Amino acid sequence: MFISRIAYPVLFIAMLLQAIWVEAAAIYPINKASILVGSTFDIKIELDQEYKLEDVDIQLNNAPIKAEIKSQPVFIANESGKGSSLIYRDIQLTKPGQYTLIAKAGQENIQVNWDVYSSGPRKVKNVILFIGDGMTIANRTSARVLSKGINEGKYQGKLSFDDMPNMALIGTSGSDSLITDSANSMSAYTTGHKTAVNAMGAYASRAADNLSHPKVETISELIKRKTKMSVGIVSDAELQDATPGAMVAHTRRRADKVYIADQLFASGAEVILGGGSAYFYPQSTEGSKRKDDKNLVAQFEGSGYSIVLNKQELLAAANARESRKLFGVFHPDNMDGSLDRFFLKKNTVAQYPDQPDLTEMTQAAINVLSKNPNGFFLMVEAALIDKFNHPLDWERAAFDTIMLSNAVQIAKDFAKKNPDTLIIVTPDHTHSGSISGVVNDAKPGPLREKVGVYAAAGYPNYPKANVAGYPSQIDVSKRLAFFYGNYPDHYETLHPKLDSTFKPAVKDESGKYVANPKYMQLQEDAIHMPGNLPSHQGMGVHTADDAVLNAMGPGSEKFRGFMDNTEVFKVMVETLGLGHIKP
Ligand SMILES: [Zn+2]
Repeated sequence: MFISRIAYPVLFIAMLLQAIWVEAAAIYPINKASILVGSTFDIKIELDQEYKLEDVDIQLNNAPIKAEIKSQPVFIANESGKGSSLIYRDIQLTKPGQYTLIAKAGQENIQVNWDVYSSGPRKVKNVILFIGDGMTIANRTSARVLSKGINEGKYQGKLSFDDMPNMALIGTSGSDSLITDSANSMSAYTTGHKTAVNAMGAYASRAADNLSHPKVETISELIKRKTKMSVGIVSDAELQDATPGAMVAHTRRRADKVYIADQLFASGAEVILGGGSAYFYPQSTEGSKRKDDKNLVAQFEGSGYSIVLNKQELLAAANARESRKLFGVFHPDNMDGSLDRFFLKKNTVAQYPDQPDLTEMTQAAINVLSKNPNGFFLMVEAALIDKFNHPLDWERAAFDTIMLSNAVQIAKDFAKKNPDTLIIVTPDHTHSGSISGVVNDAKPGPLREKVGVYAAAGYPNYPKANVAGYPSQIDVSKRLAFFYGNYPDHYETLHPKLDSTFKPAVKDESGKYVANPKYMQLQEDAIHMPGNLPSHQGMGVHTADDAVLNAMGPGSEKFRGFMDNTEVFKVMVETLGLGHIKP
């Protein structure tokens, strides 16, 4: 074939344009999605050019799509100037197997393959899913050192989830990026579908508004639709935060907190406990973050929930025979961590002295939910492990990892009497922390020389932990040298932050994050650490390192080796028989 010299650049540009077109056109659910048979989801087809509906040919397993899907699609002739889109809302595939969806229009031809899987019958009565948000390996190790002690190389005890019989490494990356956030990582656990950073319960399509992206069903919706089980949602973050939000919400943006609060009420979950009260009260209430007059607390009360607003009320409701539904909020924002609540009394503890512990919320949730003879699904999030890893405050993260261990122990005690309970303990993603030695104040020289490594590390001298597993002192003379691998500019003090959570960086006049001078003023010999993250990052960031999942009970044997985070959903729904097709 003869192509003139002038034609080459033209051809090249044409090929480039075609490559861009092919990349932009999309089908959701995405290629290689695994879909639970009978689960509800939306199909969206995004084309690059404008077409008439009748000119778009859609084949599902080599037959016109209407043979399988009876509903009419919503057709958008030109979505945001980017081409035609079709959305089939609330569809279900009722037969397991391999599916191929092909959409053709003009020169465009896009294809995805899905694996639609079924499950056997239900094998378990209850599922308790613990999320140690952002819990990285070193959080566990530091919690074990502080809580159990270590002597001549042997720990004097284990965290409650250390000795669970099954474990797996979990890959946490999302559909758009190697590095996940808590919205799309939790969404993978609760829906079995990957999505993008900041999205939950929906694929990130080109839709202009947050709530019209193609949705996928969450495990709490599945349970409510298919079973008579109860659902519980517990978090020490704001209840509108990404992890509890992904139990119930379908939005492109996790910042839609008013919507997420509304979804929590709409979900019908029997137990909802945590922080974030600011989104449950109408705008007329002082401190409310709503822009309307909706009073969700009153709505919960009107729907038969016991309302609890502090620790004493929670404990009373937990032990009351009549409690069947329980709603509790204990802080307008994120709750305080265990180091502050039990020991330092800093951050917002003086303002909110009656916050319950995660253990008390877990016990209350189990007490109430276990009254349902049909079983329950409970999600408990230790959210603050992540909230403290971000600002490089490893001691606070360690204390909340100890708290998670205590909360898991309560679930294990329940499972001892109720062995038909699957318990899963997993991070949603990791952070970059690592233990490199022991800081010893007695070592001579400048601050840096006090870091003992190898034989010079020896062991720290934290006091023996109290009955709850917490050492009463952290500013000891020999303490862990815990370093984060990614960070903004900051001052390394090699000391615990006793006055409030570490704030490593502050913005300068140009808007870039620089080391917070406060720590230089507090400690003259603090070491200036030039950041290794972009200067618009004021805190440490999540990592792509594998997350370690531990599990026990029926179905937990499926957790082994390396698994994708969407497979955690698969194990839970298979064990609950949510994809069981009766013969
Ligand atoms: Zn985070």
